[in-house]
Amino acid sequence: MNRYYKTVNINTALGRKSLGSVLVIYTGGTIGMDHDPSSGSLIPFDFERIIEQVPELKRFQFELTVLSFQELIDSSDVNLDHWLELSRIIDDFYDEYDGFVVLHGTDTMAYTASAISFMTKNLSKPIIFTGAQLPIGASRTDARDNLIAALEIASTQRDGKALIPEVCIYFDNLLLRGNRSKKAQNFNFTAFESANYQPLAVAGIHIDYNLSAVRKTNDKPFSTLTKLDPNVLILKIFPGISQSYVKHVLQTPDLRGIVLETYGSGNAPTDKWFLDLVSDAISRDIIIYNVSQCDGGSVTQGKYITSKYLGDTGVIGGSDITSEAAVTKLMVLLGNYSDLGKVKKLLAKSLCGEITL
Ligand code: ASP
Repeated sequence: MNRYYKTVNINTALGRKSLGSVLVIYTGGTIGMDHDPSSGSLIPFDFERIIEQVPELKRFQFELTVLSFQELIDSSDVNLDHWLELSRIIDDFYDEYDGFVVLHGTDTMAYTASAISFMTKNLSKPIIFTGAQLPIGASRTDARDNLIAALEIASTQRDGKALIPEVCIYFDNLLLRGNRSKKAQNFNFTAFESANYQPLAVAGIHIDYNLSAVRKTNDKPFSTLTKLDPNVLILKIFPGISQSYVKHVLQTPDLRGIVLETYGSGNAPTDKWFLDLVSDAISRDIIIYNVSQCDGGSVTQGKYITSKYLGDTGVIGGSDITSEAAVTKLMVLLGNYSDLGKVKKLLAKSLCGEITL
């Protein structure tokens, strides 16, 4: 195990045959917090004491290793270096574990899960993100249930193969495809939704898997893409958006890609100045990816004249992709492929189940 990380090995299968192994990667967030009696504040929980907090783990028959990021973060502080670190850890330990659980703050979990889905190629093992609305030490915490179910999903196999070979978010009974998820609640326990794709499983008394919705794997070797381009941004259209603002944004130095958050089925203002600015940006090789502000439904460029103009200028329709998936897909594609034509083609395709075609 890498000496740069703090790791704890927990054999929940003591005395019994181990049914699998899971690497838990703890990045920070509310889930791993505990109440510090001396200061009265929330501090990161020591995973050596995980069995004390989650005694149910003893019933599982798997080997668990918990690896903590050196610096635990609130997920609002997540950046591209964290995503590269996470994918590097998964790559380093891919062959050693049957599945991975990533403990992450909820605020940006959908972005990280989306990024990791695009950075991992030929995935045949589960990478299950989870977190909690209440710290693991709190009496009504959702952390225990989320963690236990995520571990169960990450270790479940059928005929020697992972049942869910995908990057997912498990939260409050729902297993969602990571790049289809959005944080939709900061009050209820059901923090995530996936408006355009069905859950891959629903946990009740049993975990009821929706296997026909799960992506098929291939036998090619697993690898990770190791570059991300930070020169992308999200521009949300709103009534009254000013010419000077749009111009300023589109002239951001080094800009390479934009997620244009449009209305309804991909519609935007038809003012000449707006279309001219969009067209000018495209002529400077800036990629513009049209994503709807609506959570449900998809972009259909050409359905209305207000979106046809965008398509005519070379804006790429994002179908029903989320903004979280769109911006991370741009970072990954622009970071790894120099051929813009190829990037544009891949943006219009589903790379790992992020859009419905
Ligand atoms: N601010 C926290 C975070 O995203 C909230 C959470 O963990 O749910 O890290």
